[in-house]
Amino acid sequence: MSDQGEIFFTSVGCMDGRVQEPIAMFGRSKFGAEFPDTVTEAGLVGKIATDEVDQTLLNSLKFKIVDVSADMHQSKGIIVHGHQDCAGNPVEDETHRQQTKKAAKLIKSLVGDIPIIPVFVVKKDLKWEAVEL
Ligand SMILES: [Zn+2]
Repeated sequence: MSDQGEIFFTSVGCMDGRVQEPIAMFGRSKFGAEFPDTVTEAGLVGKIATDEVDQTLLNSLKFKIVDVSADMHQSKGIIVHGHQDCAGNPVEDETHRQQTKKAAKLIKSLVGDIPIIPVFVVKKDLKWEAVEL
């Protein structure tokens, strides 16, 4: 439920506070939507990009991403993101990028037609920046 004119997109990724604003800015410009519905866990893409995704986690993601954000908020698009220096998923950057893409594919299979963009957030000159994969 939302007032007319309030336009949403969906941010799916790590809880890390350093990446939320770069992702919000990226999503606003990419989808022309103001409000990021923010679905987080520590190191989330690492937990999704595995052969045996925890069923409780998957159900929780489905409820937040599909039922609330996509269906009720009519999200304009979904950003699935990982980032450098992740305490919740301490793997090499390249592995983390691959996990981000794999997680985006799984989420795509849940939601259908909404655009999904995998993004990796990197630290550049002391600032955090979203880079599309
Ligand atoms: Zn993290």
